Amino acid sequence: MFEAAAETMPREKLAALQLRRLRATLRNAYENVPLHRTRMQQRGIRPADVRSLADLARLAFTQKSDLRDHYPFGMFARPREQLSRLHASSGTTGKPTVVGYTRRDLATWAGLMARSLACGGVRPGDLVHNALGYGLFTGGLGFHYGIERLGATVVPISGGSTERQVALIRDFGARALCCTPSYALVIAEVAEKEGVDLRNSSLEVGLFGAEPWSEQMRAEIEQRLGLQAIDNYGLSEILGPGVAVECPEQDGLHGWEDHFIFEVLDPDTGRPVREGQPGELVVTTLTKEALPMIRYRTRDITRVSTARCACGRTHLRLQRVTGRNDDMLIIRGVNVFPSQIEAALLGLPGIAPHYQIVVERHGPLDHLTVDVETLTAIGSAAEAKLSQSVQHHIKSLIGVTTDVRVLAPGAIPRSQGKAVRVRDLRTKAAG
Ligand SMILES: [Zn+2]
Repeated sequence: MFEAAAETMPREKLAALQLRRLRATLRNAYENVPLHRTRMQQRGIRPADVRSLADLARLAFTQKSDLRDHYPFGMFARPREQLSRLHASSGTTGKPTVVGYTRRDLATWAGLMARSLACGGVRPGDLVHNALGYGLFTGGLGFHYGIERLGATVVPISGGSTERQVALIRDFGARALCCTPSYALVIAEVAEKEGVDLRNSSLEVGLFGAEPWSEQMRAEIEQRLGLQAIDNYGLSEILGPGVAVECPEQDGLHGWEDHFIFEVLDPDTGRPVREGQPGELVVTTLTKEALPMIRYRTRDITRVSTARCACGRTHLRLQRVTGRNDDMLIIRGVNVFPSQIEAALLGLPGIAPHYQIVVERHGPLDHLTVDVETLTAIGSAAEAKLSQSVQHHIKSLIGVTTDVRVLAPGAIPRSQGKAVRVRDLRTKAAG
C-alpha cells in the first residue's frame, strides 16, 4: 500500500476525519464561492452548524449545470492567480466545464493517483505505458503525475499511433498499461495484426477507466492482453481519475473516504438508499482548495458496500459503474444501458468486441440498431443468419427488440480515447 495508515484506518477514525475535513471544506466554500454561500444562506445553515456527518443531508446538491452557469471560473474558491493548472471537459452540448487546481490540490491528486495505482497492483520501479489522452482531459496528466509520485517510470505516449504503442510496449518492457478499455482492445487488435504476442509479454496489470465497461469486456481484455484488468473511477468535477479504484480482489472499487464523502441516493427523491441498493452516486470533496464540491450529483448509478475487503483496506467499495443516468436509453418503455448491450455482444462466437448503437425515431417510437462486425469476412448469407441470431440473443437477455447490422471486419470506427458507443440521431438537430 502507498499510504497504509490512511488506507486501513478504522472506520470510526475515518468518520471523525471526514467530519473535521467537511467542516473546513464548507468554510472554504461559504467564504469564497458566492453560489455555495447563497445556497447555505437560503437554507439557514452556516458551516459551524454542521456538527455531524448526518447534517450533510441538509445541504443543497451541486450539479454539472452549476459549473456551466458559472463558466469559466465562477465556482473557484481561489483567485485564478493562485491556480497551477486548469482542465476542462468538452461535454456533448454547450460550454465546457472548467476545473482548477492549486499547487496543493495537484500534490493531493498525485498522492491519490499513486495510492490508486499501487492499490491496482502497480509497483515502484515498474514501467508504466500511459496511453490516456494528455491535454485538457484529466486522464493523461492525472495518471502521469501519480505514476511519477509512486516511483514508477512513466512512458507519456498519450493516445493514437497504435502501431508505435505496440512496438514501445514490447521494446521498453512495460509491466503496466493505462488507457480506456476500448483503446486496450484496439491495442490488442493491432498487436495481433502485427504478429506481436502481448499475451506473453511483460504486461501484467492494466488500469482502465474513463468510460463504462462490462465484466465481459474485462474478460476479453484480460484474455487478449494477458494482464489483470483493474477498473478505476473518477470525474473531473470532483478531481479527475483517483477517486476510486479496484484492488486485486476485483470486487468493487475502493472510494477514498479520507478525501471524499460518498452518498448513494434515490435519483428521484434525493433520499439515501439502503446499503447495497442501487442509486445515484453523490460526492463531496474534503481536501480540495480551488474547487470544493458539495454533494455533487454524478448521474452515475452504483451500489456501495462497507464490508471489510480481503485486501485489508477499510474504505468502502463502489460497485463498478456500468452506466451514467444520462446514457440510459428508454426503448419502448424498457431502460437500457449501452453496457448491457455490450455485455450481450461480447463473447458471441464470430463477433469482434467493437460495436456501435444507433438510436433513431421511427414515428412516435425510438428504435435501436446495433452495428457489430465479424472477426473474418463471412459472406452475405452467413451475415444475415448471424444478424438474426444476435438480434434474438439481445432480445432474450435485455428484452428489447433491435435491428442488428453485421458489418465487415474493421468497419466500426476505432477510438483512441473514449469510445463513441451511441450515435443518437434523434437529437441531431439540437446537437
Ligand atoms: Zn480491497
